[in-house]
Amino acid sequence: MRIVDLSFEIHTGAPVFSAYPTPIVHKWVSIEEHGYYANLLMLIEHTLTHVDVPAHFIKNGLTVEKIPLDKFIGKGVVIDVSHKPPKSEITVEDIEKALKELNIAIGPGWILLFYTGYDKKIGTPDFFNHPGLGWAASQYIARLNINAVGMDAPSIDHEPYPAHKTLLSQGIVIYENLTNLDVLIGNTGFKFIGLPLKIKAGSASPVRAIAILE
Ligand SMILES: [Zn+2]
Repeated sequence: MRIVDLSFEIHTGAPVFSAYPTPIVHKWVSIEEHGYYANLLMLIEHTLTHVDVPAHFIKNGLTVEKIPLDKFIGKGVVIDVSHKPPKSEITVEDIEKALKELNIAIGPGWILLFYTGYDKKIGTPDFFNHPGLGWAASQYIARLNINAVGMDAPSIDHEPYPAHKTLLSQGIVIYENLTNLDVLIGNTGFKFIGLPLKIKAGSASPVRAIAILE
């Protein structure tokens, strides 16, 4: 069994979407002064590697603590979209072609991950120019009725947020800011786990996402 860590390290000043405050990890007590060590965290729910749930875009949508945990665990597959130009749209054809090449059909219980390579651009101006899902691809994925979609980019789409609106309204949760997906290319059916914190009325949560390869 091999575990691949798909999460970024949470640290002060890490990049977040422009509308949000940058995270703070502040030493609150230290062994030298207090006899024990602990940090204060101040962060938006959507900091670094996290999962978005319906309430993020859907009025009265499910909040994070109410979602059955089996949504956050599934059989994973990675589609390589690293050839797509900056800010371009990932299409139905891109997805169909990749699934055909991998010779799999996906549905309930699956987690569909997109490898863009933009995790390597974190901290550069290019980081937010990642490709994203458009309306047609989002509707195609919604019909597959899978558990979740994820990407190694700060968002899975751009304004007007077709994937967030389409997938979250269907109860498909969204992982953003994943990393190390390149390690998983060509593997299908590995176990993906990305459990959220049980935040009351949460719109999202940071996660420690992992892939387990047998
Ligand atoms: Zn988010």
